This record gives sequence, C-alpha cells and structure tokens, in this order.
Amino acid sequence: MALSRGLRCCQRIFSWIPVVIISAVVLWSYYAYVFELCFFTLHNTLEKAAYLLVFHVCFVMFCWTYWKAIFTPAATPSKKFHLSYTDKERYEMEERPDVQKQILLDIANKLPIFTRAQSGGRQTSLNSTRFCDHCQLIKPDRCHHCSVCETCVLKMDHHCPWVNNCVGFSNYKFFLLFLSYSMLYCVVIASTVFQYFLKFWVGELPNSHAKFHVLFLLFVAVMFFVSLMFLLGYHCWLVAKNRSTLEAFSAPVFHNGPDRNGFNVGLRKNLLQVFGEDKKLWFFPIFTSQGDGHYFPLRTLSECQNPLLASERRWREDGSDEDGTDGEVENDASVRLDIE
Ligand SMILES: [Zn+2]
Ligand SMILES: [Zn+2]
Repeated sequence: MALSRGLRCCQRIFSWIPVVIISAVVLWSYYAYVFELCFFTLHNTLEKAAYLLVFHVCFVMFCWTYWKAIFTPAATPSKKFHLSYTDKERYEMEERPDVQKQILLDIANKLPIFTRAQSGGRQTSLNSTRFCDHCQLIKPDRCHHCSVCETCVLKMDHHCPWVNNCVGFSNYKFFLLFLSYSMLYCVVIASTVFQYFLKFWVGELPNSHAKFHVLFLLFVAVMFFVSLMFLLGYHCWLVAKNRSTLEAFSAPVFHNGPDRNGFNVGLRKNLLQVFGEDKKLWFFPIFTSQGDGHYFPLRTLSECQNPLLASERRWREDGSDEDGTDGEVENDASVRLDIE
C-alpha cells in the first residue's frame, strides 16, 4: 500500500518533467532574446524598442495560455450521471450480465445520451451503455476515462504530457491558443533573429557569447515551429470537423452505428462551440466554449427514430436537470431542428 502510494507520488513528480523542460527552454529564450540579442547586440534604439514590444506581447500571451492549459482542472461529469446508491446496489447484486446491461440502459434512457459503447458486434453495440466501472457512472457523450488522471473527463481530447493535464471540454480552447501563441512566439523569434544569425555567420558582427545564443535561438525556434505547425494544423482540422483526437481515431457509435461526423454541425457552429459567440474573446484564454460539456448538438435528426430522444424529451419536460442547464438543452435541441 505504502509502496504503491510512493510509486504514485514519484509518477506525479516525474509527470512534471516535460513542463519543466518547456519552461526552461522558454526562460532561456527570454534571456537570449531580450539580453543577448536586444541589449547586447542591437544598437538602433527604435529597432530595439519595436523588437522588445512585439516579443513581450507574444511572451505574455504564450505564458498566459500555457498556464491556463496546465492549471485548468479537467471537467468531470455531473452528479446525475453517477449511479445512485440504490442503482449501484441493484447493479452489483445482479449476476446476469444481460440484466446488468439492461439496468444501465434503463438509467441511460433517462439521460440525454446518444452514443453507445463500441465493444462487440453490431448487436452488442446497439445495446450496451458506455459505463465507467472505475468512476461508477454512465459516460455522457464524448466523455472518456483518463487512466493518468484516474477520472472521467468531459469531451476528452487526449492526455497531454507537455501540459501535464487532460485536454478536454474545460481547456480545449486554452490548448489551441497555447499552440497558436507558441507558434507565433517561434515566428517572431525566427524572423527577427535571422538577419543577425547571417551577420554573425559572415563575420559582420564580432564573435561573442551572444553569437552562440543567437544561433541556438534560430535553431530552436525553427525546430519548434515545424513540430507545432503539424500539431496545430491537425487540431484546426479537428475543430473544423468537430472531432476530438480520440474520436478521430475511433468514431463515436450512435444508434445506427459509428459516425465520425456525428457531432459535425457545420464549420461556423463547430467553431462557435469551442470559441464562443463573442469574437473579441476568441484570442484570450478566457473560457467561452458553448454548453456545459455533457450534451452536444447532433448532425442528423435521424436521431428522431432513436428511442433515446423520447427519453431526452421526457427529461426536458420534467425539468429534472439539477444544474439548471435547461437553457443549454433547449439550445441543443434547436440546433438539431436547424439542421433538419
Ligand atoms: Zn471514469
Ligand atoms: Zn488525463
């Protein structure tokens, strides 16, 4: 027991290593750019001031978005998705797997859930509810259990070691902004450092320790830029298609089978879902994503044939939503009607 607790503690400490590496590289780049390049190498005051201003804007935005991506806790399912004490007892006492499955299905029918488990053949996938044994809850649509965080995470995208956090509903916007500002940071460094790199290279500037820093600044900025370009490009495509990384690898299963585009409601609405209605706030790491992470508008209204829709209607009518998110559900339903 003590050993496993010790191991978990070590694991938790080691999981911060990628964050420490990134922070160390960024701190060094700050020193190299501000002191070695701007203060020790540049002589033109106007140029120096312009470089420092642009650099600091990017640096502050990068730090702010990175901080928010790391320290925003992953959103977990609300209480009503957890098995109640009596349901749990009924489920655990039951030994027949088919009846257990039916118990879960009955509970899920009272919740606004449209996706099914993927295991087994077609017949099985039609009947099985996405249940997390570890957290003892019925998983809302797009929710997955993270084995690193040991919890179910709403609209889980992936567990990212570079932010040592789960990227999901609560911080996906912050993660995208973090990638964007990291790229901008690299672009600003590479584009301003390049001419001094050449001057050092051809011997126009004297050999000094600044030369070493400037050479490495360009090298590191280009290296990070190339890797970030692919990662950000991939996530832009995911946002446009309204898919999480997990859904891109394994399509969510609806009543009529797997559908990668199940949550794709058109480019504009997909964008608004992540960034919110207020365009001024799109570029700041302030939470503006739509909804509460439990329910997402669906692409087709073929869900009408889904017996689950009836239960959703019932759920809306009896107003059993304890979180007071009735408005959200109304919105979701109206989006479905728009698509129809
Ligand atoms: Zn779980
Ligand atoms: Zn995680």
